Amino acid sequence: MRMHREFYIGGQWVAPHSDQTHVVLDPSTGAPFATVSLADAQDVDRAVAAARAAWPDWAATSPRARRAVLTRIAEVYETRLEDLAQTISREVGAPIDLARKLHAPSGLRHTRDFIAALDDFPFEFPLRADTPNDMILRDPIGVAAMITPWNRPLNQIALKVIPALATGCTMVLKPSEIAPISAMMFAQILHDAGVPPGVFNLINGDGAGAGTTLSAHPDVDMISFTGSTRAGIAISKNAADTVKRVQLELGGKGANIVFADADPDAVTRGVQQCFKNSGQACNAPSRMLVERAAYDAAVDTARLIATTLTTGPADAPGNHIGPVVGRAQYDKVRRLIQSGLDQGARLIAGGPDRPATLPAGGFYIQPTVFADVTPDMDIAKTEIFGPVLSILPFDTEDQAIQIANDTPYGLTNFVQSRDREKCRRVARQLRSGMVELNGTTRAAGTPFGGMRHSGNGREAGIWGLDAYCEIKAISGW
Ligand code: NAD
Repeated sequence: MRMHREFYIGGQWVAPHSDQTHVVLDPSTGAPFATVSLADAQDVDRAVAAARAAWPDWAATSPRARRAVLTRIAEVYETRLEDLAQTISREVGAPIDLARKLHAPSGLRHTRDFIAALDDFPFEFPLRADTPNDMILRDPIGVAAMITPWNRPLNQIALKVIPALATGCTMVLKPSEIAPISAMMFAQILHDAGVPPGVFNLINGDGAGAGTTLSAHPDVDMISFTGSTRAGIAISKNAADTVKRVQLELGGKGANIVFADADPDAVTRGVQQCFKNSGQACNAPSRMLVERAAYDAAVDTARLIATTLTTGPADAPGNHIGPVVGRAQYDKVRRLIQSGLDQGARLIAGGPDRPATLPAGGFYIQPTVFADVTPDMDIAKTEIFGPVLSILPFDTEDQAIQIANDTPYGLTNFVQSRDREKCRRVARQLRSGMVELNGTTRAAGTPFGGMRHSGNGREAGIWGLDAYCEIKAISGW
């Protein structure tokens, strides 16, 4: 088992004050994989103090100098891609091919995209052409604390750390205790790329300890959080007394509206997208709403796709799905599958039993599809965060929109139809931060974020940079 007890503070790896530890499990076997420390309040104070001390100098650097640092980060990152893929595969159970294709490169892609966004991002500009005396400045907000989840560890970390660096903020990152090792490798990349001491700091810890201390810390100016709605609410409350900015990227329960005139691949695409990363994606299309005329055929297709998908360990090559991340997730997903059966949904693939042939300690769930789901069932309402798809019929466009919006979440929804006007009309009425039409993925720099219980933040592109800035208006310039 690997020991990773140190934190990265003030430009070096330091021994923690806390003697509390946490064992990271390999989801494919359930066996211990690494041990990390869990920061106590003194560790948090030390990291925040390092970030605070580094802030004046880093805030005073030019965008050009910070761009040069980001460019070096991308160069070093590129040399570590395979190591990162191996580590993420091991700590979150992502099949190695997926870790190489999706997980490891995401941080590099975001770094490059933010370099491009920075080139189009003025830090000083007149209010209007006819008001040269009114100057608007974008100041870095100060010390940002970042709390991230495990499901796509480097994706979420890069979406926060890179724009904070780009805008002149200093920071403390607390990655998920479930997947902390890739984050520590990311810290080493930043070190090797020459990020000055104290600008970026990393501590490991859990939500109840370090997460709560960071949220309430008087010397932290902003919390950027990605994770569950439950934790987002707790963080908002803890941050209120110090009036810090709180950026929240939370859960989702995406609807995928499939009209009868959708392209022939729409259902297959939707099922595959729902099961990607073992269903552990905030923007998974986990509710498939199908127009009545196409319903039976869609159910047949979904059954076929789910039953041909295999489940297997993360180190096996191929496009199978891996285990879910851990015991708590495994128990929760199986409990929800059981609730689907108890509440009368029609099971057409998978089920609560673990796949028999796989390692006994691993957290494997069969790709599971329910048909005839009704909006009041728990599987239709709860973010399952596992490989479980619910299929619901609808009769009219208005009814589809009503069912899609009948959730407190509002992250990503999906529409499938060959009628472009209908797609646009429906997309305008969906209450979510993002809508994907006919499988078209988002371009680089598109804002990522949700509404309502899915949070209030927007990451990536110029929106991702703006999140770390204060707007200052100077008159009489
Ligand atoms: P989680 O909320 O349990 O944990 C996320 C992070 O918050 C971890 O670092 C954890 O230690 C910390 N934390 C937990 N409780 C806390 C508290 N009370 N105070 C401060 N910090 C606390 O979530 P998770 O299980 O790691 O991730 C899955 C969730 O993340 C899902 O709901 C998913 O939808 C969401 N997510 C959202 C996005 C997005 O961009 N909207 C992206 C990925 C994941």
